[in-house]
Amino acid sequence: MEYVIIGNGIAGVSAAESIRPIDREGRITMIGDETFPPYCRPMISMVLEGAVGSDRLPIRGADFYERLDIRPLLGARVSEIDVDGKTVITEKGEAVSFDRLLIASGADPRPIKAEGLDLKNIFFMRTEAHVRGMERALPDVRRALVLGGGLVGFKAAYGLMCRGIEVTLLIRSGHPLSMQADAAAGKMILEKLTGRGLDVRTGLAVTAFSGKGRVRQAHLTDGSELPCDLAVIGKGVLPSRSFIPRDHIDLDLGVLVDDYLETNVSGIFAAGDVAETTDIARRSRWVNAIWPEAEAQGRIAGMNMAGQKIRYGGSLSRNVIRIFDTDILTAGIVTPESDAVYTAIQSKDPLYGTYRKMVFREDRLVGAVLVNRIEQGGVLTALIRSQMPITIEKERLLDPLFNVKMLMKQ
Ligand SMILES: Cc1cc2nc3c(=O)[nH]c(=O)nc-3n(C[C@H](O)[C@H](O)[C@H](O)COP(=O)(O)OP(=O)(O)OC[C@H]3O[C@@H](n4cnc5c(N)ncnc54)[C@H](O)[C@@H]3O)c2cc1C
Repeated sequence: MEYVIIGNGIAGVSAAESIRPIDREGRITMIGDETFPPYCRPMISMVLEGAVGSDRLPIRGADFYERLDIRPLLGARVSEIDVDGKTVITEKGEAVSFDRLLIASGADPRPIKAEGLDLKNIFFMRTEAHVRGMERALPDVRRALVLGGGLVGFKAAYGLMCRGIEVTLLIRSGHPLSMQADAAAGKMILEKLTGRGLDVRTGLAVTAFSGKGRVRQAHLTDGSELPCDLAVIGKGVLPSRSFIPRDHIDLDLGVLVDDYLETNVSGIFAAGDVAETTDIARRSRWVNAIWPEAEAQGRIAGMNMAGQKIRYGGSLSRNVIRIFDTDILTAGIVTPESDAVYTAIQSKDPLYGTYRKMVFREDRLVGAVLVNRIEQGGVLTALIRSQMPITIEKERLLDPLFNVKMLMKQ
């Protein structure tokens, strides 16, 4: 059996690790355009903060490929999948045939349109190479501009602030992390950041960057100019799917997969940030581009590629973020669209700096936000995942002492 895995991120690595114990004879080829050993992508922001060195990033030993008898094709980018010919073709023209294929190509930073993007010191923040580039530039950087208040933009701004750099954050909505946190938690995050000196500008975009060779100014849509020695574009990500033939493989935002993570083409699977699965809380298709889902999807896809029939239970957005001394946990739907279907209850304790919000669809918990005292995050996330009916008073879930035993009491 010829297995080919496109992408050596956590989804690809997990898939290879679950194929090998089931099929000891099959040939596994992993094609990845990064040459760094498989690493913890979320931790690159900690490298930017200066909290860890890049030597802490690898998630597997240097012998990973050898130990699992994997043929690595690194520094190689797939440019085409020939579905009928069951072949993957790289940009260098190498053709690799497959019986089972996993698309685990992750996501690419969402590009922006602006002049001067080729100037030095303008970065995305997706790979360890991006952060290495930023670290090299840091000694000459006093002021930085970060575009986008999503998870990556926010982490970039925080990381640069930890390095003592003056940071301006341009965001479209009124608060950062608008996809992860609701308005109340977002406001708390914003206050934390601005209290530590972050300059936040809302409703503005960059039309151009200028400077001699390297960036020195950003020109904004209101006609103003912002001096900056470094800029980070953190406007979200898009599934990395440019090489996927849409006349053969069904795509929406991501690659569409069934409950077994197989695409509409038998033998071709997808997992991780590139895959569009069923979101448990939303009950609809969604791309949940988060690490734990990429890991779980990769593991299950790998087992199914090797002939097992393991059902994937669906994905759930969730995140834990620490900003200075504040912890934030979010899971599921945190900003419900329609009041008719959802009810939301919340509580705030200014004395302890806590905020809690629960979102229900009828008698099921579908979303939670906890700011500080986040210990029950695991239980609440499990309740969302299981979709078990909540038969006790809903307000009891707001209690910082809430525990699973309370669910039994009427
Ligand atoms: C700064 C940052 C912070 C994050 N923080 C969090 C967090 O706090 N919590 C959380 O859950 N998630 C976080 N994430 C998201 C998390 O890192 C991703 O969900 C996870 O890495 C996805 O894994 P993956 O294997 O699907 O894709 P990736 O990790 O993107 O791996 C895909 C690999 O495939 C390669 N590839 C792509 N296209 C091709 C091609 N055509 N040919 C060959 N190779 C290709 C890519 O270069 C890459 O190496 C963060 C991400 C970033 C960038």
